[in-house]
Amino acid sequence: MPTRGPVSAVEVQGLTKRYRGPEDGVLAVDGIEFCVPSGEVFGLLGPNGAGKTTTIRMLTGLTRPDSGGARVLGLDLARDLPAIKKQVGVVPERSNLYNELSARENLIFMGQLYGVPRDERGERADELLHRFRLDGKRDVSFGRLSKGMKRGLTVAAALVHRPRLLFLDEPTSGLDVVNARALRALIERLRSEGVTILLTTHYLEEAERLADHVALLVKGRIIAADTVTGLKERVADGDAMVEIRYADSGGSDRVQLHREDATSTVVAALGRAQAAGREVESINTVQPSLEDAFIQLTGLSAEVMLVEKGGR
Ligand code: ATP
Repeated sequence: MPTRGPVSAVEVQGLTKRYRGPEDGVLAVDGIEFCVPSGEVFGLLGPNGAGKTTTIRMLTGLTRPDSGGARVLGLDLARDLPAIKKQVGVVPERSNLYNELSARENLIFMGQLYGVPRDERGERADELLHRFRLDGKRDVSFGRLSKGMKRGLTVAAALVHRPRLLFLDEPTSGLDVVNARALRALIERLRSEGVTILLTTHYLEEAERLADHVALLVKGRIIAADTVTGLKERVADGDAMVEIRYADSGGSDRVQLHREDATSTVVAALGRAQAAGREVESINTVQPSLEDAFIQLTGLSAEVMLVEKGGR
């Protein structure tokens, strides 16, 4: 019988990190708890500075928590880090690969770091180059690859030891639409192969598309954690959402209709459009999006998630 892994790939308990600094420093992660079910894509979602990277760094042994802990693949983070590292892949937001080494040399080097037997490293590297459509770039130094290729190779390098759990920090940040789409397709394929994926993102739409469960992280705290569907249902609570599209800009507004004042809400929204001289193109009932859930649950505007470091 195949051995079965733990039901939760990651279980986080009271994880806390304060960076030292002037005065009290920064409480980057403040006693968070969440579980990542095995075999799922889990989205840790939050604006810049929320503590996502710090959380990943703690879960992968790069930063020591001040308090709290975690079980990763059934192992204790504080006690069993070497065993955890053998089964976990990490894709940092900034690549950890070497500019001077070629694509293939980077993969072989990472294979060595991750303990892949020497006689298997070359074959693994070639397999991954093929899978990531980088065969033609095998001898090109990492520094000379395009942005999308760099991200692809960085993901490939994290898979060289065939991990059961993959941490992806802002996987599509800074990528163009085509590369971002290819990476999302890869994430879905890895999930279908049984790899558990914990990704951080500040793209609500990306989390909505990819993730099974999400946790909303704001200022080091988890505001809500649920399935994407569960979060959306909390917003709707049986109410309809109406989307008003404008002909002029192609833009739209969304309003939530409560049963008791649905008519006046629609009339008021149309009145505002008319007063602003906007031409309404269509009115539709829509399902609430993760963005609607985010706005309602955090009290923040969706714009805080759009502030980009690199631009898309
Ligand atoms: P981003 O999406 O911008 O990467 P994030 O959600 O990953 O944000 P973190 O990078 O974990 O957030 O940062 C959380 C908080 O901790 C921020 O206030 C940040 O300024 C602070 N911080 C992060 N790293 C350090 C550090 N090495 N020293 C001091 N403060 C830090």
